[in-house]
Amino acid sequence: MLYFRHPACLAHDPALVMPGHPERPERLIAVERALEAREWLGCEVREAPLASAAELELAHSAEHVASIEAFCAAGGGAIDADTYAVEASWEAARRAAGGACAMVRALLGGEDAVGFCGTRPAGHHAERERAMGFCLFDNLAVAAELAVREPGVERVLVVDWDVHHGNGTAEIFRRRDDVLVANIHQEGIFPGTGALADVGSGAGEGFTINLPAPGGSGEDVWLSLLEHIVVPAGREFEPQLVLVSAGFDAHRADPLAGCLLETESFAAMACQVRDLAAELGAPLGAVLEGGYDVGALAESVVATLAAFGGEGEAVSAAPDPLFTSRAAAQIGHYWEL
Ligand SMILES: [Zn+2]
Repeated sequence: MLYFRHPACLAHDPALVMPGHPERPERLIAVERALEAREWLGCEVREAPLASAAELELAHSAEHVASIEAFCAAGGGAIDADTYAVEASWEAARRAAGGACAMVRALLGGEDAVGFCGTRPAGHHAERERAMGFCLFDNLAVAAELAVREPGVERVLVVDWDVHHGNGTAEIFRRRDDVLVANIHQEGIFPGTGALADVGSGAGEGFTINLPAPGGSGEDVWLSLLEHIVVPAGREFEPQLVLVSAGFDAHRADPLAGCLLETESFAAMACQVRDLAAELGAPLGAVLEGGYDVGALAESVVATLAAFGGEGEAVSAAPDPLFTSRAAAQIGHYWEL
């Protein structure tokens, strides 16, 4: 396994501009400490390179990229009510996107079958023209755009299991049939998008899968939606690359949301996605998104990476009678479930 990190990702720090903000450097410090205690699970640890402007512009307008650069150069501050940047955020954000690009290049180049980017700021809320939801650039979207430009890569599957709907990634690929974006998220919380009935638009109709789970949902609902909706659709889609927006804020300890996953639930989801990628012969890359209880985050990243590396066996979940059936009725118009 390859693991991408960079110390510059710790310098994106809310202390001066939004003190008390939950997206703070301590998250990564805890993740890295937990991985060190497990000898990085045998991963080859690499430095995340800087994304170039041309790479960022694969998923963002040149104006947005230039505006983030200028905002950081001027010292930063609050971009909106919950998104901040400081001077050092410009490098951190380019390391986060650059790590995702380097990971995809290495995976598609056959250097390894599994990669993980332990970087921040996160990305899946950032839109083509706008930073939001703690995110400056959509790291995964940049990497997915890079991937579909590679010869032999016609389709990329994105699985987003962060508790918040990944509105940025969803919008960037809404009209596309080469990137299938499947989201499992808590219904009714930030950012308010991701309704089951939103299946994409135009040529992309059916290539957006939104699976909202009500607050209070636990592993039974989440694993059922993953196993019985996302996995069969992903299998039929036959991607050459699988990317995961790996957020860990559906953990029961998380302060920002109300789902009830356990640390082991992330391992169980990781086993499902790992086995799907292996069956398809597609490499698997994940990028860190949310997760705001630092202890739960660190444990859950370790559990996920261990599963990606082969620990544990996928266990079949009983189809949830209410939410999975409702989702199957909608998604089954497009995919053989
Ligand atoms: Zn989140």
